[in-house]
Amino acid sequence: MEPKDQQLMVALRIRPLSEAELEEGATIIAHKVGDQAVVLMDPSEDPEDTLRAHRSRERTFIFDRVFDQHSTQEDVYSTTIRRLVEGVISGYNATVFAYGPSGAGKTHTMLGMDAEPGIYLQTLTDLFQAIEETRDHMDYCVSMSYLEIMQLLTKGNRQRTQEPTATNKTSSRSHAVLQVTVCQRRRSPDLAEEVHLGKLFMVDLAGSERASQTQNRGKRMKEGAHINRSLLALGNCINALSEKGSRTQYVNFRDSKLTRLLKDALGGNSHTVMIAHISPASSSFEESRTTLLYAYRAKNI
Ligand code: ADP
Ligand code: MG
Repeated sequence: MEPKDQQLMVALRIRPLSEAELEEGATIIAHKVGDQAVVLMDPSEDPEDTLRAHRSRERTFIFDRVFDQHSTQEDVYSTTIRRLVEGVISGYNATVFAYGPSGAGKTHTMLGMDAEPGIYLQTLTDLFQAIEETRDHMDYCVSMSYLEIMQLLTKGNRQRTQEPTATNKTSSRSHAVLQVTVCQRRRSPDLAEEVHLGKLFMVDLAGSERASQTQNRGKRMKEGAHINRSLLALGNCINALSEKGSRTQYVNFRDSKLTRLLKDALGGNSHTVMIAHISPASSSFEESRTTLLYAYRAKNI
């Protein structure tokens, strides 16, 4: 892997329509077109308007890669992260973010299920295999840590259980970060040995809808404001990094805990992959639109 390789990749994953969405009569309004485009249709506009004269809010978004319900966990992993794993063992940093509203598929992509493991497991499997293959002349140490950012959210535990729609939304209220650090040392008789340190961050971000829920009060509002701030700060950092020759440009990592933690990962010799997630359902139009705009802006001004 060359450090010149694309340093920021923004991908989109559209999950399949869920049972619940089918039952409520939702239709699919997010369509993948080719490998890089998605068309989001406005469900409030007249479906009979075949000439599309009034489809003002229908919009096409272009990403580095678009995945839909036909894409497998393996497809997502192999076209986004796999290329970065070898870099990490030889001292490059890499970060992958799963972004999107709750229920859009972030945890499915990162963690997945036993039968369909997500990015965490696929990455670790490849990482250890790459280490195994070079073990005869290299020494490695690998350390891992998992943390959830924003203690504030943990404090709100009691409130969490009261949440009316809560279905496994715990992790969506904080950013979950799996950090893997790999130290590589060439085994050689002379003392001038080379040591490489690579860091890989895999981040399941807080549900992005929390940032914009205006009806929230008290702790929930504070929580929303924090998430909003960190997601904005993240968007700004990524955006700054995506500009050409941005290495020397000022990037304000101090804006939030999340970006402070990821300073290493986002700066210097690092690669970043953002995978935005949406539901294809008509009932999620607004959330999907906001998500697409955020992800699109992360890469383009
Ligand atoms: P999030 O972490 O964004 O809140 P989840 O990953 O928990 O969302 O996904 C919500 C539900 O949708 C889960 O039941 C999950 O198994 C299912 N799901 C999400 N993405 C996919 C996918 N690509 N294929 C099949 N099921 C999915
Ligand atoms: Mg989740």
